[in-house]
Order: sequence, then C-alpha cells, then structure tokens
Amino acid sequence: MTFDTLGLSDKVLSAVSRAGYETPTPIQSKAIPVALDGRDVLGIAQTGTGKTASFVLPMLTRLERGRARARMPRSLILEPTRELAAQVVKEFETLGAEHKLTVALLIGGVSFDEQDRKLDRGADVLIATPGRLLDHFERGKLLLTGVEIFVIDEADRMLDMGFIPDIERISGLIPPRRQTLFFSATMPPEITRLASTFLRNPERIEVAPPSTTVDSIQQVLCYVPKVPKEKRAALRKIMSEQDVKNAIVFCNRKRDVAILQRSLKKHGFNAEAIHGDLSQHQRMATLDAFRNGEITFLAASDVAARGLDIPEVSHIFNYDVPVQPEDYVHRIGRTGRAGRKGYAATLVTSEDMRAISAIQKLVRKDIDWLGDPPSSHGEEENVRKGRRRGRDKSKERASTNRKKTAAPARKKRPASDEKRTRKSADSQRKSPPKDAQRKQAPVVGLGDHVPDFLKRPARP
Ligand code: AMP
Repeated sequence: MTFDTLGLSDKVLSAVSRAGYETPTPIQSKAIPVALDGRDVLGIAQTGTGKTASFVLPMLTRLERGRARARMPRSLILEPTRELAAQVVKEFETLGAEHKLTVALLIGGVSFDEQDRKLDRGADVLIATPGRLLDHFERGKLLLTGVEIFVIDEADRMLDMGFIPDIERISGLIPPRRQTLFFSATMPPEITRLASTFLRNPERIEVAPPSTTVDSIQQVLCYVPKVPKEKRAALRKIMSEQDVKNAIVFCNRKRDVAILQRSLKKHGFNAEAIHGDLSQHQRMATLDAFRNGEITFLAASDVAARGLDIPEVSHIFNYDVPVQPEDYVHRIGRTGRAGRKGYAATLVTSEDMRAISAIQKLVRKDIDWLGDPPSSHGEEENVRKGRRRGRDKSKERASTNRKKTAAPARKKRPASDEKRTRKSADSQRKSPPKDAQRKQAPVVGLGDHVPDFLKRPARP
C-alpha cells in the first residue's frame, strides 16, 4: 500500500514523501481513510506505530478548506504531557510544511503571553495539555465552539495522570457535531466507558492486540541484588556489554533518577537526567541534546518520559521494574520503532517477582533471563517473600485505584498539570503504609507513658 491511495491531498502527499515516509504503517492505512470521511475513530495503538501521523495527515487535508478566526481554533489535540504536545507540534511542522496553518501550543510551565498572542491572531490547530487549555478558557481567551476535529491522544495516560474530569469538561465545551479521534495504547474499563461517551459510531482500529509488545524488541530480565550500590554496578555491567547507540534508563522515583544519573556520569557514562522537577526549558534542552546524540544515556522517570518521540533509541534499561505493568509497555515502546531492532533489559530484585509476572501476563510472553534466573541464586525464599510482598502492594494499589475511580470529579482544578501529578504522588507518599497502620494498636489514655508528676507521692 502507498500513501497516495488513502485520499490525502497533494500538498500532504508531497510533505509525506519529503519526510521520507514511504509506506503507511498499519494504523495509518486503516485510520486515515476513515478520518478523511469525517467519521469518529477509536484507535488502539502504542507510541511507535505511527499513530501521530494517522491523525495529523487527515487533519491537514481537512483543514485546507476554511480559515482560522481569532480565539476560535478549528481543531484541538489534547496530550497528557508537555513533551508529547511539543512533539506533535514538530510532526505538524514536518508534515504541514506546505500548509499555511497556524499551530498554537498551549502547555504549562511557560508564560501565557506568547500563547495569548497566538490565540488572538487565530489558530487553526491547538495542541494542548488539559490544564493549560482550561486556564486559557477560564481567562476568556478561548472559545471552543469552532472546533471541528477533536483529538484525544494517549487516553490511558490521561487516566493515570488524573485528567479525565478535565477532558470531560473540555469535551462539553466543544459542539457535539465535531469529529472525535480517540487514541489509547491500552483499553482499561474506565477508558472504554469514556470512549463510548465521547465517540459517535466510531470505527474501532486496533493495530496490535492491547498491550502486546513489538516483536522487533529483544526483551531480557536480569536478576540483581536490591542494594542500590550493587544494583547500579549490575546496571553498568549490562550496559557495557551492549552496543548502545543511545538509551533511556527508567527509574520509578524522581530522586533515584537524579542519583543514578550522577552515578553513571561518575563512572564515565555520558548520561543526563529528565524528571518532573526540571524546568520546561531544561527538559527541552536535555531532550534536544539527546536527539542530537550529544547525550547517550537519558535517566528518566515515567511522567517526564511519557510520549517522548525519539525515533532511534537503541536500548531501554529498566533500572526499576515499573509499578504498573502498562508502564512497561510504554517504556519499551521507545525502542524497536518503525520496524527497527530494539533491546530492553529490566533489572529485577527479589521484591519484583510479582510485578514481573503481571508484566509477562500483560505482554503475553515469558521474558528470557539474561544470566542466571532467580531460582539458581538460592533466592527461592526471598522470591517467595517478594511475591507475597508484591501481592500485598498490589492489593493496596488496587484499593487506592478503586477509591480514586469512585471519587467524584474535582470541583476546583489545581494550577498546572505537572503540579497536579506531583501533588497526588506526594500525598500517596506521605500517607503511612497500610500494614503500619494496621500494626499500631489504638492508644488508650496516656498509653504506657506515665508523666513524672503523677509518680510523686501525694501530700496528705
Ligand atoms: P508515533 O507512533 O506517532 O510516535 O511515530 C513513531 C515514529 O515513526 C516517528 O518518529 C515518526 O516520524 C515515524 N513514522 C511515522 N509514520 C511513518 C511512516 N509511515 N514511515 C516511516 N516512519 C514513520
């Protein structure tokens, strides 16, 4: 199949060929004709499958007719993170090179002024994170009644980051006769419910079964000690054994991202860090340096790295096993893109066995062990304990998630997208673990503590 059979305009076809895209990817060949027809799309596809172009190309073709009016954008693309939003702008710049469309990027962490000016001049395409978009709306700078095409990208990420109430609100501000293109890598029940409320008679397009991992990625597990120093040494050994062109090293916590990056640098690895505490400017600069090859290793947290589009990542190293199995799919989806060979190694300690079996269940395959499997380390007891601990943790997580889902939509929206995610992570961190709460018996009166003045003999 070639691009010129899909119904795209000549201008778009010429930009596609200049971008070097020869054949449409499966999501593109299925979604583009449907989107050009004006129908709703429910696209189930991971990053790396070419899904961005599957909505950018038909949007460019459809927007060729008509003009933008001040403060009334004609299309809206919602992205969960600033980086992903900035990435979609790049795709517009490449593929819309022959169009005179105005694209406005509305993301937090940068000043409102430039964004206001763009809106005033009239934007054809708005690419935004939900929080900043609503901030502009509340300041009276934006009307969404002219939106003809509405794209919700990475819906499952939006769910993880707590953006669903915002998206429901934004959706209510757009006229119902719009076209909606809805993309998600996975389809948990909450996302299925949302899709059914947002979409009208959509064409469901699934390019791979949900949560399968791309075959071109070689995946391995490495059993390592859980002591941080030894774990870092094990990581360095695995990294040195590979022919790494560039790699992302994922950690679960921001703090560990920073520690790991410093340690890697100390040991001669060309590594920088990207996490939510860095300014937007710093993150963009680091990302650019990584793209240009000035940096070889990028230590990253999930939130910061979500949706990064770096076409040629040769390796992924999971320093920590991700807490949510879906994050594993997202992380390793950064390698093995567009048919290239990829490699993903995950460090596993005795406490991670439960999480690993959840991941293997999700990706529907047994991942090979690099080196000795845990059983040959004489660690059966620890592995068993790890399983039990893992089970307790996952029960705890499930109950937290249930509570979150059952909670009513927030009335007041916090200031920015990033802050919101950070806040919820902080609040989770501060609450004591359930086991600890359970072990503490209620204190009656003064408990065991008798103040000294009560021990003094009473005066007759
Ligand atoms: P995405 O899934 O949208 O993040 O795209 C992943 C990468 O594949 C991006 O770097 C795109 O530039 C690239 N890409 C998208 N479509 C094609 C195509 N038809 N042929 C080759 N590369 C593509």
